[in-house]
Amino acid sequence: MGLTKKRFIADFQAEALHLFADSLENLSPMQQYQALAFLVKGYYAKDWAQTKADYDHHQQKQVYYFSIEFLPGRLLASNLLNLGIKDTVEAGLKQLDIDIPDLYAQEGDPGLGNGGLGRLASAFLDSMAADGMAGNGNGIRYQYGLFKQRFVDGYQVELPDDWLRDPYVWETRKENRAVIVRFGGSVYLTPCDNGGLEPVYQDTDDVLAVPYDIAMVGHHNHMVNTMRLWSAEPVPGHAHSLAEKSRINAITQILYPDDSDTAGQELRLRQEYFFTSAGIQSIITHYRRFHQDLHLLPNFVAIHINDTHPAMAVLELMRVLLDDGGLSWEEAWQITVQTLSYTNHTLMAEALETWPEEMFARLMPRLYQIAQEVDHRFRQTYTPRFGGELIQRCAPIADGYLRMAYLAVIGSHAVNGVAKIHSELLKSSVLKDLYTIFPERFNNKTNGITPRRWVQVANPELSELIDSAIDTGWRSDPSLLVPLAAHLHDEKFLKALHTAKKANKEKLAAIIFDQLGIEVSTNAIFDVQIKRLHAYKRQLLHVFGILEAYLAIKNGENRPSRVHVFGAKAAPSYRYAKSVIRLINAVADLVNNDPDCKGKLAVAFLPNYGVSLGERIIPAADISEQISMAGTEASGTSNMKLMANGALTLATLDGANIEIKDAAGEDAMAMFGLTTPEVAQLKASGQYSARAIYEADPTLHRVVDMLTDGTIPGITTEGREIQDELLVYNDTYLVLADFRSYVEASHKLDALWQDPIAWAQAALKNIAASGQFSADYTVARYGRDIWDVLPATPVGHGGE
Ligand SMILES: *Cc1c(COP(=O)(O)O)cnc(C)c1O
Repeated sequence: MGLTKKRFIADFQAEALHLFADSLENLSPMQQYQALAFLVKGYYAKDWAQTKADYDHHQQKQVYYFSIEFLPGRLLASNLLNLGIKDTVEAGLKQLDIDIPDLYAQEGDPGLGNGGLGRLASAFLDSMAADGMAGNGNGIRYQYGLFKQRFVDGYQVELPDDWLRDPYVWETRKENRAVIVRFGGSVYLTPCDNGGLEPVYQDTDDVLAVPYDIAMVGHHNHMVNTMRLWSAEPVPGHAHSLAEKSRINAITQILYPDDSDTAGQELRLRQEYFFTSAGIQSIITHYRRFHQDLHLLPNFVAIHINDTHPAMAVLELMRVLLDDGGLSWEEAWQITVQTLSYTNHTLMAEALETWPEEMFARLMPRLYQIAQEVDHRFRQTYTPRFGGELIQRCAPIADGYLRMAYLAVIGSHAVNGVAKIHSELLKSSVLKDLYTIFPERFNNKTNGITPRRWVQVANPELSELIDSAIDTGWRSDPSLLVPLAAHLHDEKFLKALHTAKKANKEKLAAIIFDQLGIEVSTNAIFDVQIKRLHAYKRQLLHVFGILEAYLAIKNGENRPSRVHVFGAKAAPSYRYAKSVIRLINAVADLVNNDPDCKGKLAVAFLPNYGVSLGERIIPAADISEQISMAGTEASGTSNMKLMANGALTLATLDGANIEIKDAAGEDAMAMFGLTTPEVAQLKASGQYSARAIYEADPTLHRVVDMLTDGTIPGITTEGREIQDELLVYNDTYLVLADFRSYVEASHKLDALWQDPIAWAQAALKNIAASGQFSADYTVARYGRDIWDVLPATPVGHGGE
């Protein structure tokens, strides 16, 4: 977009006047932000309308990405970057004497997700726009996002995230596209004119689903896609009691703050049906504006099920094709399977979603009838070939429950895992039986990230340094980072890399001081673990590493100085995770207040981890902790973001860590711990004794004792609970089994740190190899292998 600084300043002043009837300098930073955001929205509005018109005009196949979570992050800077006007606008803001970081910080960060799942969905929408693919998001406009986290006396306190209190500039309410979603009541089939059966609904609870559209601005390609989030409202004209109204509003009021196991509540099921039904209905309505023949749907529409929350898309699409479209079961089923695809995100059997038949039938009686028929036909079709036992194990309904992952596989033409190892494990564990029946459906799509946000926006220092070495092509095609490796022996460049990292550490140190009052040395190694707090992710192992270092320092040992940075929210109902938070904060108190540790060891747990805080932490990281028990982390994406910013990965051979190792090289990181087969074998053998390991390793013994012997003040209850999990319940996630090799791997990094050139070389290898993890390539592969949608913008190679 050809924008001059002068023109921008005039536009900005006009927008301020238009919105607030005042001149810019009289506005608050929030008002200035809003004026700027509205202006930017105006800048892309024409492209947005034109993109939609072009998709319709060319009848381009459209992808609809259904996800119960999205974590878009702040959009102003990334929209400016994608429009190609960030430098011009920032120059204008500077001339106007406006504090640019402060202006950006005015924007709310929509917390419409818990972690990796939601962030992946948003990365994919961003990448589809960048690739010029016709991609749409479909999700929920939660009135309250994920809770805001504070620490009080080291405990997590949850505050409501009222993110819509200030108007959210980027959304556009589309009242004219609202649809009605029906819950409850009863339904029976009656013969209709064409000889088929037609459902008659009685006493349903109808809810109006109103879409709010948010633009997904493509990178330098004038394409603007749409993320559509649905809000539940009473149907105008219906007489609702107050209680009914509040029950309707409740559907999109809150995000469930637990992504690891089913909330198990009716409201969650209502949420799932609400956004799935609204999405399917609006897709079919739009389709029918251009096509009569529903048989051609898969030629023009691909619907993707991100994890199982929207898995009832299988049933809802069947319902619309059967009941509204009048198709036969066989026709409708073929169309449904061809249209749908599914991504699995977890191997943990306890996290596979199931719903009691009774609840499902009560809330969605027509969908339940269809589910029964799917189940019946599945059994009838495949039992002769595969036997009743296998079919019973993987049928969509069994033992009183609907099994959503199985339903998703049965109703989709493609099923993928999110890292090579994860996709392999799906076939040999949780989806083994369905793999036997439908082997051709299974494929891998390793997750990706958007380097535009995580490198270009978050780390301008590094970005400019890369530009100076290899020009700017990598900014639109990150696979072009590979030639950076030519600078491996360029000492000047390596020093500049160190300087850029240092600048980012200075900024993070200021935040740490600001928020926690802790002074940290930027000469220290910044050792970072940022992710949801969960036992399988093993923040506890990291804590044990810190305690090992603490004891060594108390013992007079000399170690390179380290600052351990944590960011993590725990689900409010997850006791153990909250105890670990309390422990980390207590260890921080112990270490940060011990004069012996000054300048050697510090711990900073920054509250309220989310996309925006991640953007501050990641550029400053030297070490990326990716230490899940092997076989539990499906992929991970913080590992990719940190790698792209030159952090060295300290990791188990789990998820995408394995692919990071293959890309960057074993010498550019530190691997440790039991492998997935070793974990499986140890668990199966029944021979694991956490206590025996504790007894045999004096350092570990000491560390575990510190949980309860008063060394770490104020954690009596939590310390006991964690120690019991290890020694009484025998350490579910094998923290003690991996402790020794973790500490050794960590020492290896200490040794490398002593040689700044060697460290910078390892960082460089990571940066140069990180391009392949761009989500631009990931979605291009989804397009090629799953959706049958090609990028309109050239996307480069990115591995494969
Ligand atoms: C990338 C990201 C995650 C995923 O982190 P993992 O370490 O892969 O679990 C979670 N939350 C936010 C806010 C992120 O940006």
